[in-house]
Amino acid sequence: MQFIDLKSQYRLVEESVKARIETVMRHGQFIMGPEVQELEERLAEFVGVRHCITMSSGTDALLAAMMALEIGRGDEVITTPFTFIATGEMIALLGARPVFVDIDPVTYNINPERLEDAITGRTRAIMPVALYGQCADMDAVNAIASRHRIPVIEDAAQSFGASYQGRRSGGLSLIGCTSFFPAKPLGAYGDGGACFTHDDGLAKTLGEIRNHGQDRRYHHLRLGFNGRLDTLQAAILLAKMDIFPDEVVARSKWGARYTELLNQRGAATTEAGDSPVLTPSIRPGNLSVYAQYTIQVPNRDDVVAKLQQQGIPTAVHYPVPLNEQPIFQGLGHGNTPISAAVAKRVMSLPMHPYLSDSEQIQIVDAVAEATNLSSQKNS
Ligand SMILES: *Cc1c(COP(=O)(O)O)cnc(C)c1O
Repeated sequence: MQFIDLKSQYRLVEESVKARIETVMRHGQFIMGPEVQELEERLAEFVGVRHCITMSSGTDALLAAMMALEIGRGDEVITTPFTFIATGEMIALLGARPVFVDIDPVTYNINPERLEDAITGRTRAIMPVALYGQCADMDAVNAIASRHRIPVIEDAAQSFGASYQGRRSGGLSLIGCTSFFPAKPLGAYGDGGACFTHDDGLAKTLGEIRNHGQDRRYHHLRLGFNGRLDTLQAAILLAKMDIFPDEVVARSKWGARYTELLNQRGAATTEAGDSPVLTPSIRPGNLSVYAQYTIQVPNRDDVVAKLQQQGIPTAVHYPVPLNEQPIFQGLGHGNTPISAAVAKRVMSLPMHPYLSDSEQIQIVDAVAEATNLSSQKNS
């Protein structure tokens, strides 16, 4: 069994991927070839924003977004500690200080109720993350941010294709950043990423930053770096975009079905009951792409080992909150008890659009057995 089955996906896109690659090999414009612009137009339309600026990775998209807002030394950026390292890492790389605000225990995303207390005169951006493919409470975050005139950058690396109140992730704030790392909901065959914005000026700036800060050839008016997406990766992503809307539907279906099957065996979506297994809770108005299908269990090492014995791969996203990482010692360690607690209990199950009914039932049975849920579904 695969944790993410890219081979089944390849069978569906093989012909169009090969044709797209062949076209690039023949025209030979490997850097900023026509597929890059074609992809940017396609993705901007999909997300529902004016501009998409593709980038060499999701990490570089976050870096470019903060550079475009001129964030640097002495500045603070508010984010969640319960995320992939890149979110906090790029803040620190620019010399700014990540300020970690604890998460909502139900969605795993930044808790807007705790946001205002973290805002200071140095706050230059708020960076919510759409963890596991479900958007943060963006209306609440945006409302607080606009009251304080602070820009919001959405880290949508796990949520491309997700929606919030009928709008797509990536287009929910001043700048949205996503990743096309192969294992993300829309994955390339290598690294890739993108920034999204409605703002014409920021779009121009982001386009310059990803190309060494040049506005025309060999004329560098600002600091940038090499943050360009390869033409070949753009070509592959264009082929994959043909099936992506169907994959979003499939992801959402498999995710909901996991929850249904686990809950039938006694798992719960809230802590109100005393079930040993907590399933994800998707807020009304949210459509999750389940970049990960993540549950909480009390005896994680044991459950991981038992599933492993049955050939079921799992992963932990993430075992250590950012403020407990060695590089961030001294940045408010201990002030985010919910992140600290869930980091010890979360584990992700195999999740991709090409799961089968029998695989999913096998996984659910194995989880039920390892956690002493009922082995039969309740009737
Ligand atoms: C994957 C990820 C990133 C970084 O994306 P890359 O393309 O791997 O650089 C940033 N933030 C989050 C939340 C991610 O999951």
